[in-house]
Amino acid sequence: CGIVGYVGGQSALDVVVAGLKRLEYRGYDSAGVAVLADGGLAAAKKAGKLVNLEKALKDRPLPSGSTAIGHTRWATHGGPTDTNAHPHLDNAGRVAVVHNGIIENFAVLRAELAGRGHDLDSETDTEVVSHLLAESFSSCGDLAESMRQVCRRLEGAFTLVAVHADEPDVVVGARRNSPLVVGVGDGESFLASDVAAFIAHTRSAIELGQDQVVEARRDGVVVTDFDGTPAEVREYHVDWDASA
Ligand code: GLU
Repeated sequence: CGIVGYVGGQSALDVVVAGLKRLEYRGYDSAGVAVLADGGLAAAKKAGKLVNLEKALKDRPLPSGSTAIGHTRWATHGGPTDTNAHPHLDNAGRVAVVHNGIIENFAVLRAELAGRGHDLDSETDTEVVSHLLAESFSSCGDLAESMRQVCRRLEGAFTLVAVHADEPDVVVGARRNSPLVVGVGDGESFLASDVAAFIAHTRSAIELGQDQVVEARRDGVVVTDFDGTPAEVREYHVDWDASA
């Protein structure tokens, strides 16, 4: 299972799908992508191999944009269906989130969201996150802050990456007990579960620490803990044979 996020000058979907291919070795049962374009958000997701997703994207192309996220899923909650595949969106279709890991307290959060009128349509533990992010964003208007607020409520293991149509030049990530690496490019930034996803583009990387949130933009990244305290980031050079 793997995660890729991108913001920059290239076609974001192309970068993300190529990155997901580099993560295929990790194993998965479904795949999906979301892209921010024309003031909105568009997504595609398919059970099965990446070729299924690529075929869906060929048959019904998504608009092209400069911010996108992608996911390969290894199902833990809910079978490997198109609906359970990530990204998961909120009811307004403005926020998209991908997740590797397990949200252990999802049932409580799900019941709470249903009580507030949210309509959850998958069987995953993940979907609560898109709805919680949408709620937080509607009060604070800042995706990184929304991610911090939501992460403080989550139990379990997670790498999360999200985008919001109202903050089109930002990709936000978070991690607890699950890996997330940041790629720092020239006018572009990458988030991924593994450097393999972006070494074709940049060798400058930052390993996100435990319980940290990253806000990635074209011109750089800001890292904090879940309470918003800025974290020290140490950039390192990825010394790895790209042909491997
Ligand atoms: N628990 C999530 C799900 O079943 C994420 C699984 C994964 O790590 O890919 O959808």
